[in-house]
Amino acid sequence: MDKDKLITELQDEIVRLEDNLIHDNLTGLKTRAFLEHELSVYLEIIKQSSSVETQRRERFGFKNLSLIFLDIDFFKKVNDAHGHDIGDLVLKRVAESVASNVRTGDTVARWGGEEMVVSLLGASEKDAVLKAEEIRAKVEELGFPEASGLEVTMSAGVASSENGLTLEDLVKRADEALYKAKETGRNKVVSYSECGIMEPVTS
Ligand code: GH3
Ligand code: MG
Ligand code: MG
Repeated sequence: MDKDKLITELQDEIVRLEDNLIHDNLTGLKTRAFLEHELSVYLEIIKQSSSVETQRRERFGFKNLSLIFLDIDFFKKVNDAHGHDIGDLVLKRVAESVASNVRTGDTVARWGGEEMVVSLLGASEKDAVLKAEEIRAKVEELGFPEASGLEVTMSAGVASSENGLTLEDLVKRADEALYKAKETGRNKVVSYSECGIMEPVTS
């Protein structure tokens, strides 16, 4: 193979590998590694802002961030009943729906198998609960003509950063809230502080 072609191929491969660090292959969402890095930077800025007070806060335009942990309900059953390919299709559609419901600047990442995380910069816990409820309702409305009888719902846990809260603690709080949403019936949003529990709207 000629040298130039080989170099071009190697360069393309490097670009592809770099992109895989940032974007999830299946859904096109950001990766967990990318989001963790982004969050650690933001949390550090928030922490420093409190010591230098308003000056830096104003410069960066935020003093708070909220996380929404999302997890598809009974996804194992989706795979079992309809097959892995339909499972993948569900993941892609749900990811698309979540991503289309957030503002530019907010980040949506695939955290694990069927778990997604939205980070909302500058949003209070209350804002994030409302956003999570919107996301939940949109996912519930999705149709899957490829798989008869398939209905997909998602549960959500919301937590908000406080001064000095580590990434680990913030994630733990959002995860706890998600666990509670699962435990108390699924297809619902629960916030860490518990005051923001929202039941699904039934018509
Ligand atoms: P829960 O409501 O408690 O969340 O139940 P669940 O069945 O969604 O949870 P569980 O963690 O038991 O199952 C997650 C399933 O997600 C198991 C795994 O096979 C499936 N999964 C993970 N990644 C992928 C993927 O990339 N594609 C497909 N099709 N399935 C996946
Ligand atoms: Mg699940
Ligand atoms: Mg899960």
